[in-house]
Amino acid sequence: MGRKPIIAGNWKMNLTLKEAISFVKKVKNKLPANSKVDPVIGSSALFLASLVEVCKDSELKLAAQNAYWENAGAFTGENSPAAIADLGVEYIIIGHSERREYFHETDEEINKKAKAIIKNGLMPIICCGESLETFKAKKTLEWIKRQISAGLKDLTSEQVRNLVIAYEPIWAIGTKKSATAEIADNTCGEIRRVVGKLYGKDTAKKVRIQYGGSVKPENIAEYMNKENVDGALVGGASLKPDSFLSLFEGLDKS
Ligand code: 13P
Repeated sequence: MGRKPIIAGNWKMNLTLKEAISFVKKVKNKLPANSKVDPVIGSSALFLASLVEVCKDSELKLAAQNAYWENAGAFTGENSPAAIADLGVEYIIIGHSERREYFHETDEEINKKAKAIIKNGLMPIICCGESLETFKAKKTLEWIKRQISAGLKDLTSEQVRNLVIAYEPIWAIGTKKSATAEIADNTCGEIRRVVGKLYGKDTAKKVRIQYGGSVKPENIAEYMNKENVDGALVGGASLKPDSFLSLFEGLDKS
């Protein structure tokens, strides 16, 4: 069986609780039934407990946007992956370039987070992606290889095949300059090859790899049609219910 694509909205630090609840109430019954795609919203941790209740009996799943690697302790201001799991959330996004850049997260920390998330029975969405400088210097592959092998270090093949990787070139995030579908497909293919070398062909065939960076309703089909792209991680275009719903239009028809 092929890989089930995953289209995830990453709200980042946007919306209030009231707005988030109203959004989810609007979209939850309008998503394609028996969809061939997993629809996910990545919200602020502040909203997750309420949104889990609103999402019950719907296809919509939830993601946190970060978590710490310990389940409990004196870590003021951090969120426990065990507490997130207990809410009924399914995914946790980690290693987003904004967290790497503004909060100085390292590959080693991202790896610890990935292990903690998996231990708690959740699926990490592990982000990777290169800067414009690296892209222009044609060093994307080298960069991504390092991020992927460090981020997935010491995980088993079984664990890797069940997680999600998001390829998000930094130069395409929030810039309206999305990577072409060819670039997205090539780099996702390279990521798959890296996973194959480290964890075997079967794992590479099964791991889901999303593209993210200025994805919108008008261009999502181009990515979804590519062999190595298993969905999208969407920022700005996931913030309005109509725009979020439009990301799924047409996907059930094939
Ligand atoms: P945009 O879709 O706004 O470019 O953001 C992409 C992103 O960072 C998703 O995680």
